[in-house]
Order: sequence, then structure tokens, then C-alpha cells
Amino acid sequence: MESDHIYIRGLRVMGLIGVLPAERLAPQPLQIDVDLEVDLVLPGVTDDLNDTANYGAIADAIAVLVRASSDILLERLIARIADCVLSFNHVLVAHVTLTKLHPPIDEDIDSTAISISRSRQATDSATRHRAIVALGTNMGDRVGHLRFALDHIPHVVASSQVFETDPVGGPQNQDAYLNMVIEIDTMLDPYALLRLLNNIEAQSNRERIVRWGPRTLDLDILFYDNISIDDETLTIPHPRLRERRFVLQPLSEIAPDLCPAEWNTTVPAGVVHARGLLRNLISTTEH
Ligand code: ATP
Ligand code: CA
Ligand code: CA
Repeated sequence: MESDHIYIRGLRVMGLIGVLPAERLAPQPLQIDVDLEVDLVLPGVTDDLNDTANYGAIADAIAVLVRASSDILLERLIARIADCVLSFNHVLVAHVTLTKLHPPIDEDIDSTAISISRSRQATDSATRHRAIVALGTNMGDRVGHLRFALDHIPHVVASSQVFETDPVGGPQNQDAYLNMVIEIDTMLDPYALLRLLNNIEAQSNRERIVRWGPRTLDLDILFYDNISIDDETLTIPHPRLRERRFVLQPLSEIAPDLCPAEWNTTVPAGVVHARGLLRNLISTTEH
């Protein structure tokens, strides 16, 4: 999978380091370069500093740590810098280079440096999650709204056909919906995923005027791994999915294991028509 980076380059700080007597007496100039691996998808959509690694705060913390250091070995100092960087939210991997800009060596030398890479304890499988998301639209350019969502939801690994469905619930005389269900492979926690989805809805000019009223784009989290959540902002699995054929039919295409037994005979039929043609239209935008 691709990775996103934030760089802090050329941070210069005086620090006490080294084994030579002269090095124990006075601080020397050090340079710290950091390459952070951070998932930048969410802040790319939300424009919110809380959703990314704050490089200003990280640079400050490194400078404070180095100035206060009296380590003997660069190896010790760089390990502490990496730990410090990894303690910041959203940093998944830290590649750190620590350079002595004027090493006290009797040779013609520019600098000496060491470099390490450290990642959070969590392994890849612990940071990746399987989430199932339902998409619905019945206003304006419905296919355009689905395409927009698929372009902005990262790491779609499977998608159902698009189904055209009669409205269920809500005000009378709504236009027909297009519905589909997708599976994503995500590093976002459920609340961050909800914020991402809400943001994409808002960018599609989603308005909430009447409950279950017409909408340009509705993005619901159906499942997130096999966890259950039920609080003011989030209920997972989605509480109404079991009674909705417009959700179950597309869901059965990509995750039949998640459909209730016998749903096809127990949930009222007649509202769903596959729009097979749209499958090709949509699948070309998967990534
Ligand atoms: P329904 O939930 O019956 O499908 P809806 O999708 O029209 O109705 P919205 O107005 O889109 O309802 O959502 C209302 C709130 O539901 C959202 O602001 C969100 O906080 C909350 N919510 C709770 N659980 C979920 C979930 N699993 N997925 C998306 N939103 C959820
Ligand atoms: Ca919904
Ligand atoms: Ca919703």
C-alpha cells in the first residue's frame, strides 16, 4: 500500500553528546532530519490539524529533548528522539537521521550521522480494519454523487452493483434511489471514518432537513470488523440494515457472510432493480 510522509528537515540544535573529553564539556551542533509516515487521507478531506501529525509540535519536542540531553552515544539520543516522535498522534513510522555537524575528528570530514527507522508496536494487521459502507443517493446527478464518494473514500477493496430502488420510509413522492455497498480496508478508527464520511456527504451538499428525506449522498457504516458500538454518534452494526433490502441485496454480493440467514425470503421484496450497466461505470473508479 502507498504511504504518506511528513518531513522535518534540517532542525539544528546544540546538544551535549559524545565520548571525547571535549564533547563532555560543551554542547555541539547537531542536525535532526525526520521522515514521518502518517496517513494523510483524513486531513486531506477534513482540513483539520487534529487529524494529522503536528510537525511544529514535534519539531519543538525534539529540540527540547536534544538540548536537555547529556547522552554519550548518538545511538542513545536517536532512540529517544524516535520514541518521542512516535508518541505523537498519527505517526505510524519514524525515520530519523541524527548528524554531528562538526565531529571532533582529526580528518577532513563534513559530518557524521546515524539513521534509524522505528514503528509503533502495532503490526500491520492490527492497524488495518475491514469496514462495510452503504451508499445511497436520490437527488441531482446520482451517478456523479456515487463516483464522487468512490473517489474520496480510500482503499475500496470491493463494491457491489448499483441498484435502483424505490424509496422506503420518509416523505412521499421522493425520487428513486441508487444504492450500493462497498468494502474498505482502512486505518481510521470508527469515529474518524464517520467524520470522513460525513465530510464527503457535506461536500456533496448533503442537507438534513427531514428524517429519511431526499439526499444527494448518504454514507452509512454497516460494519467495522466485528465490533459493536452503540452511543450518541455511532451505532455499529447499522441498526436498520436487517430490514432493508436495498442494503441487504448489494451487501449479499460482497459479504454474504454478514447478511442474516434467510434474509432473501424474509425481507419484503419488490423494491430493488439491479442497474447492472452502472457496475462498469463505477468499478472503473475503484482504487
Ligand atoms: P438511517 O440511519 O436510518 O439510515 P439516515 O442515514 O438518513 O438514517 P442520517 O441523517 O444520515 O440518517 O444520520 C444521522 C446520524 O446517524 C449521523 O449524524 C451519525 O452520527 C449517526 N450514525 C449512527 N450510526 C451510524 C452509522 N453506523 N453510520 C453512519 N451514521 C451513523
Ligand atoms: Ca442511511
Ligand atoms: Ca446516514
